[in-house]
Amino acid sequence: MVEILRPTFTAPTVEALPKREDILAGIQLVAFDVDGTLTEHHGQLEESVKTALNELGARGLNMCIISNAYGDRADSLREMLGDPFDMPVFTPKSVALLGERPSKHRKPSPAMLLHAAKVHGVSLTGVLMVGDQIAKDVVSANRAGAKSLLLPRRGKGDDLKVRIFQRPPEALVRMALGIRFG
Ligand SMILES: [Mg+2]
Repeated sequence: MVEILRPTFTAPTVEALPKREDILAGIQLVAFDVDGTLTEHHGQLEESVKTALNELGARGLNMCIISNAYGDRADSLREMLGDPFDMPVFTPKSVALLGERPSKHRKPSPAMLLHAAKVHGVSLTGVLMVGDQIAKDVVSANRAGAKSLLLPRRGKGDDLKVRIFQRPPEALVRMALGIRFG
């Protein structure tokens, strides 16, 4: 049971990823969470993160966004990231069939990752999900059969619900699994 919570890799920042050959070996598609991972909560992309994305793109890696965001935030992600990085943004709405509730495809569902792998024509063992939450990003990757990279949350902001109900158990799980970001 506990294995579903265990990230494949950890790193201290997203900026460290382009230099981590150990993590990138065999990876064809890097799927990023946004809030708390690429940006602070509902923040903008910082220059250092843009540089890291450019470096990953220059290696020929496919990249995409897998976000539980909806509405305005999803649209602003498309504006912020669709160009110049050529990263498709997948949200629960992207994978919902007609008449289906998109919310059932939110992470920790593997649906968005399975869809992204198919769209990019890569196998799931070549997919790396990068995110800041075990209960969402890591579990969705493990369910999909993809790899995962857990990062510490970027910035201090959070949804109230996440701060109260999700961060404290995440900290306990990290402790129980002996996860460090160093
Ligand atoms: Mg996040």
